[in-house]
Amino acid sequence: MRILLTNDDGINASGLRAAAEVLSHICKVIVVAPDREQSGKGTSISLSSPLRISKVKRIAAGVPSYAVEGTPADSVILGLDQMAKDVDLVVSGINSGANLGEDIFISGTVGAALQGYFRGLPSIAISVGSLHPPTFHAATVILAAIVRQIEKEGYSNRLLLNVNVPSIQFSDICGIDVTRLGGRAYTDVITTGDDGKQEYYWIAHGTPAWHLVEGTDIWAVRNNRISITPLHSDLTDGKRLGEINKFTDKLRGSFDAS
Ligand code: MN
Repeated sequence: MRILLTNDDGINASGLRAAAEVLSHICKVIVVAPDREQSGKGTSISLSSPLRISKVKRIAAGVPSYAVEGTPADSVILGLDQMAKDVDLVVSGINSGANLGEDIFISGTVGAALQGYFRGLPSIAISVGSLHPPTFHAATVILAAIVRQIEKEGYSNRLLLNVNVPSIQFSDICGIDVTRLGGRAYTDVITTGDDGKQEYYWIAHGTPAWHLVEGTDIWAVRNNRISITPLHSDLTDGKRLGEINKFTDKLRGSFDAS
């Protein structure tokens, strides 16, 4: 089993190192990750600038490691095209901070894993639910177990798992749930300042408003359980197709008249 490992916290992040160490004991790992923190970059790809790749000191024994001057998605695209053409699986993480519910739309951790998924590979995004400071041990245990299971079952088709692990001791984890995405609304906090040249604005996430519904990823992590959410890229709102058809019938009239 060959793995391309990336993240959005950057090549020097402790969660990336923790993942590289545990995975290097069970398979062949190559790290291709952004050269600096890229959290919140989502699925962004750098189209307007050239990208440089630097070979850096191995972040774990036996793990060739490369830093990319770009986004998490750039790292996977370049990795799969250049340094890791023959990988079987893409892993993104271990991210410091949960990626729950609507977070997946801005998450660079999930954005990187999506690039593996788009290219037909099984892909895993994995995060721990605390920034201050996160405990990675439980996440490394579940990551290794998932990778072993994928290898055992011979998954070769595209699959995207978003895994969130509470930042608690392994012995305090209450179980593993397969979940759907929950709802989590952020209030953005915008601070302003002046750097002496011009006023600036700084967007930061405020305290999220939780919607604690059983069966969701948010509920699982809040109840000290590991959450595994299978994702796919079809965002079509199937339940509203009928409603929008009626809505569109009214638009069609104006085209028929012309
Ligand atoms: Mn991050």
